Amino acid sequence: MNAHNRPRTVPADSAGIAEAAALLQAGKLVAVPTETVYGLAARADRAEAVAAIYRAKGRPDFNPLIVHVPSLSEAAALAEIDARAEALAARFWPGPLTMVLPLRAGTAIAPAVTAGLPTLALRCPAHPAMQALLAAARLPLAAPSANRSGAISPTTAAHVGQSLGQAVDLVLDGGPTAQGIESTIVALRPSGWSVLRPGPITAEQIAEVLGSGGEAAAPGAAIEAPGQLASHYAPGKPVRLGAVAAEADEFLIGFGAIAGHASLSPAGDLAEAAARLYAALHEGAAAQQPRIAIAPIPESGIGAAINDRLRRAAA
Ligand code: AMP
Ligand code: MG
Repeated sequence: MNAHNRPRTVPADSAGIAEAAALLQAGKLVAVPTETVYGLAARADRAEAVAAIYRAKGRPDFNPLIVHVPSLSEAAALAEIDARAEALAARFWPGPLTMVLPLRAGTAIAPAVTAGLPTLALRCPAHPAMQALLAAARLPLAAPSANRSGAISPTTAAHVGQSLGQAVDLVLDGGPTAQGIESTIVALRPSGWSVLRPGPITAEQIAEVLGSGGEAAAPGAAIEAPGQLASHYAPGKPVRLGAVAAEADEFLIGFGAIAGHASLSPAGDLAEAAARLYAALHEGAAAQQPRIAIAPIPESGIGAAINDRLRRAAA
């Protein structure tokens, strides 16, 4: 990308956050660090601001957005919080857990945010820059990942600039994100709960709080979480999973004993692998080899979320 196509990028310090808050209040788009990946934020109560998110990402309009709030009380103004939601918030908020809850009637949330669903996805992020921004803007912020729809998620400010260019008005640079993989999404329905997207908080951890009322993902889950499209996180070249060695034309992403051209974690640590996943996919996408291969990743803990993303990257 040419230098002049890069969006204005400033450190996520108090001056940067003040500038970002003013832009958001004016209906502009700001990319922000969170503990998961960089988000593309806009005020959730303005139809034009929300429309700008869909336009910048090239996102299909049936794919709803997650709304970020500073605490449970702001969440309660937007959605119906039951005892289960309260218990999950007490345990995991602020943090990488998104809850899908019944939307409250008469809120100011723009209809495009929920893509017409009667539910709202809410998250209270832990990243200090995002918390400071929510406090300064005093607005609920819709924020999907800050990348073109279907492409690799951004874990650095540079990834955001490469993917979105000047479609974003400002990027707050808070360094590489800590967890590196999108939030867990849990739907709380009258009939029970289910994980719509695996993430840093595992289904087992949720079951510890809610008991074993978890449902298997319903056949309708594809409609309920439309973002869970089979192909996503695509590096733009073929991806082979479960590889123990590279073919001549492959860039191998290693794990543990399999070194590869780049490694998610030489020590075989799954949290480190999650944090490095998207940067490694970006590296593989930019490499000279026409194909990417990836070492097997264990399915335990956050490994389930890593493998979920890898299956979609390979699809
Ligand atoms: P991202 O664009 O990476 O932030 O992904 C947001 C995810 O949240 C997508 O998978 C959406 O489908 C999902 N989502 C947002 N709102 C809802 C909702 N009301 N019900 C179910 N899934 C939702
Ligand atoms: Mg995304």
